[in-house]
Amino acid sequence: MTAAKPRILTGDTPTGRLHLGHYVGSLENRIALQDEYDCYFLLANMHAFTTRADKPAEIRQDTIEIVKDWLAAGIDPKRSTIVLQTEVPAIAELTWFFAMLIPFNKVMRNPTLKTEIDAKGLGDTYSFGFPMYAVGQCADILAFRPELVPVGEDQEAHIEMCRDVALKFNQLYCGVGNRVVPEDHVKAGGVFPIPKAKIGRIGRLPGIDGTQKMSKSLGNAIMLSDSPKDVQKKIGRITTGRQSPTEKGDTSNVLFTFVRAFIRDEARVKELERRYAEGDNIGDGHIKQELAEHINALLEPMRSRRAEYEKPGGDDLVIDIIKDGTRRANVVAEETLHLAKKAMKLDFGRRSLAKDTQHS
Ligand code: ATP
Ligand code: MG
Repeated sequence: MTAAKPRILTGDTPTGRLHLGHYVGSLENRIALQDEYDCYFLLANMHAFTTRADKPAEIRQDTIEIVKDWLAAGIDPKRSTIVLQTEVPAIAELTWFFAMLIPFNKVMRNPTLKTEIDAKGLGDTYSFGFPMYAVGQCADILAFRPELVPVGEDQEAHIEMCRDVALKFNQLYCGVGNRVVPEDHVKAGGVFPIPKAKIGRIGRLPGIDGTQKMSKSLGNAIMLSDSPKDVQKKIGRITTGRQSPTEKGDTSNVLFTFVRAFIRDEARVKELERRYAEGDNIGDGHIKQELAEHINALLEPMRSRRAEYEKPGGDDLVIDIIKDGTRRANVVAEETLHLAKKAMKLDFGRRSLAKDTQHS
């Protein structure tokens, strides 16, 4: 890691294990960008409490399992920094300051929040903290002053909000003129670069139900930690409504969305699409079998890397990685908070977390 490298921040909420949607939406980009960027990957465990405040033990275990998913998928804790949200106090403090820069109604109109409220059946009894997480996410990101945020499509509205907050902060407290283009904000004296979303190869992978996005909270996901049999079973559950191998099929269906996402042989995909569309003696069962093999081939190396952390003591290894990353992350986040407070004329002496962040 060198200071000269531009930074990336992204992360996941520990509301369950990671799935294929995470992989194509964000994880794949994170792994690919580990050398080019100084990467920070955040475990948004505080945000898991917004919908599961009654399940602290599950949130704790999911936090550990997500790190195993990351390590299994190829995130290297030597090159990248793994960050535990609840041990980075600057994030919570920045959340407060940023909450003053976003109109309440704008948060409540955020389309991602609205979709989540519907999809998760939160009705009108969700906690005050639930919509607050969208503001918190601006702080998660900006605490690291990153240039890039690799995310799935559902996060675009959140990143837009984060950009608005950064623009407003720089204009209000750092004297950046409102005609300065986002790319020039830092040059013009802004504390925050205006980060850009980097959407994955597949911005929104549907779940095996074919309707909602694949989501760890909705029971429609193929997990990165699923066994080969589970993968096969779950793929088998995809329904297309097609009756026979000679019926002309619609290649815009969910089965083919998966085919295009996971069979990385263009010529073979084209051939399958042609035969399916023409009803050229190819059954759904055959396609599912081939698809499951490709997904299993993708997951196989992850399974063997994961095995290292599934042994006795594996959780402790993971916790050490979390502590080490979080200590490094606090150095950056504290610096950001200091710069932000200074810009806000709140520089009444600088605290030091140095001792506290040694984490025994
Ligand atoms: P939850 O249901 O708890 O919200 P989730 O499955 O949506 O969980 P998140 O932790 O909210 O997962 O998202 C982590 C990252 O993965 C985000 O960048 C998000 O955009 C991306 N992502 C999640 N689901 C998908 C999907 N189905 N397709 C593409 N990207 C996805
Ligand atoms: Mg989500």
